[in-house]
Amino acid sequence: MDGIRGWVFDLDGTLTIAQHDFPAIRRELGIPANDDILTYIAALPEPGRSDLSARLDAIEHRLAEAVQPALGAAQLIRFLRDRGDRLGILTRNLRSVAFSSLRALGVADCFNEEDVLGRKDALPKPDPDGILQLTQRWQLNRAEVVMVGDFRFDLEAGRAAGCRTCLILPQNSWPDLADWHMPDCRSVLNSLSPGLGSDRTAG
Ligand SMILES: [Mg+2]
Repeated sequence: MDGIRGWVFDLDGTLTIAQHDFPAIRRELGIPANDDILTYIAALPEPGRSDLSARLDAIEHRLAEAVQPALGAAQLIRFLRDRGDRLGILTRNLRSVAFSSLRALGVADCFNEEDVLGRKDALPKPDPDGILQLTQRWQLNRAEVVMVGDFRFDLEAGRAAGCRTCLILPQNSWPDLADWHMPDCRSVLNSLSPGLGSDRTAG
């Protein structure tokens, strides 16, 4: 991953342990099982759209209180920040919820507020809008930017933006979409700086 100077991270399931039970959220909000939650809400007429959107926000704030850091996530963020790389978050969550999670991980100070893009700041993944916003602001070449995430939408957004992609997941579920595959953030750190990502410093 030499040459990468800009990192766009997905949040839930990538820097934190996945805690969103999407079927349960759909049930709580009365959204059909096979519908994409954000797409479904966006298509509703008012006032239903605002009402359901507010209820989703409340669920996300509730979930953010119980956030758990993913293996090596905080160390990886600190390492990248200390070497001067650009760091962003692209999440389908709210920016305020994203910052609660980043505070819980102890790395909120590593991110500029405008580089944390929630669902009201960019079109939702797999649209590349958020990555393109960040790449432009950072004035980096797309080949110097990687989208890091645990789901197909993260990789598709990265591909659509023309940047590199890294899947963080135990199994390589989308080999055609990922330039790199790592089981966890600790492995990414270890590949960048062997020794730093050891068990001794994990947590
Ligand atoms: Mg995710």
